Amino acid sequence: MNVFKPEKLFGIIGHPLGHTMSPLLHNWGFSEHKIPAVYMAWPTEPGKVESFMQTFRNLPISGASVTIPHKLSVMDYIDQLTERAKSVGAVNTLYWKGDKIMGDNTDAAGVSEPLRPYCDHVKKALLIGAGGAARAAITGLQTLGIEEIYITNRTASKAEDLAEEFKISALDWEARGDQHFDLIVNSTSLGMSGKFQEINPMIMDNQDTNTIVYDLVYNPMETIFIKEAKTKGCTVIHGIEMFIHQGLEQFRLWTGKRLDEDKARELLLVQL
Ligand code: NAP
Repeated sequence: MNVFKPEKLFGIIGHPLGHTMSPLLHNWGFSEHKIPAVYMAWPTEPGKVESFMQTFRNLPISGASVTIPHKLSVMDYIDQLTERAKSVGAVNTLYWKGDKIMGDNTDAAGVSEPLRPYCDHVKKALLIGAGGAARAAITGLQTLGIEEIYITNRTASKAEDLAEEFKISALDWEARGDQHFDLIVNSTSLGMSGKFQEINPMIMDNQDTNTIVYDLVYNPMETIFIKEAKTKGCTVIHGIEMFIHQGLEQFRLWTGKRLDEDKARELLLVQL
């Protein structure tokens, strides 16, 4: 009888973790490349990050994903941050380099990679929202060389703070629909399943077939923002693309191997 004996252990910490698709993606990846490894969900309450990091240091754990609410607090227990993690100001990936725990961030790649085929067209972009995902989104857009980036948020002070930190421009929340943009990225929770599902983060009157709309919300797949953007003839990018690309980049960091993007998408869409 063939008994599967994993030699490497990976996992995700966050709270709550009920809906995470990361174990599905990475365990599929290990099986595609015949890597004897397993990826688990490790629900970790706020305040338990320090003890998790002691476990990470002392047990044979090869790598981990870090999600809400630990992306900032975990940074206190890391030996070295990558340049990407420094620019985003948050960590979503842990791995070992020799005896050092590295903290990296693949969320910015999750934003930039699906946009790369369109980036020559994008001169002027609007980012809606100024929470955790917005930091990765700004870094992702800057990586693509988009120079004119505006940020707007219900709580104006948060947009102004990020605008100052990342050297972009803050835009008044009430004025977000007043001009045309080549690209609009939604990083608010508006449109997510639940009480915000029917609220569109954007006023679309000035957008047209030249606008690209990227909604980072992926549950539901067809958000109200995506649906209205389609009626305007905009090019749309679904939030699942960010999840796929941040995950593929984590897998590459841990294993040095690439996964087929289309197969990964197919796998995750079934789950969604
Ligand atoms: P967060 O830090 O809690 O930020 C939430 C943002 O939504 C803030 O800008 C907040 O504005 C805004 N917001 C919340 N309720 C609002 C309302 N009623 N009206 C207007 N704005 C409102 O969350 P996050 O981590 O940035 O995540 C944001 C979204 O991105 C979530 O839906 C999440 O699912 C999605 N996301 C997707 C991926 C992916 O892989 N596709 C990865 C990460 C996140 P205020 O500052 O005014 O409260």
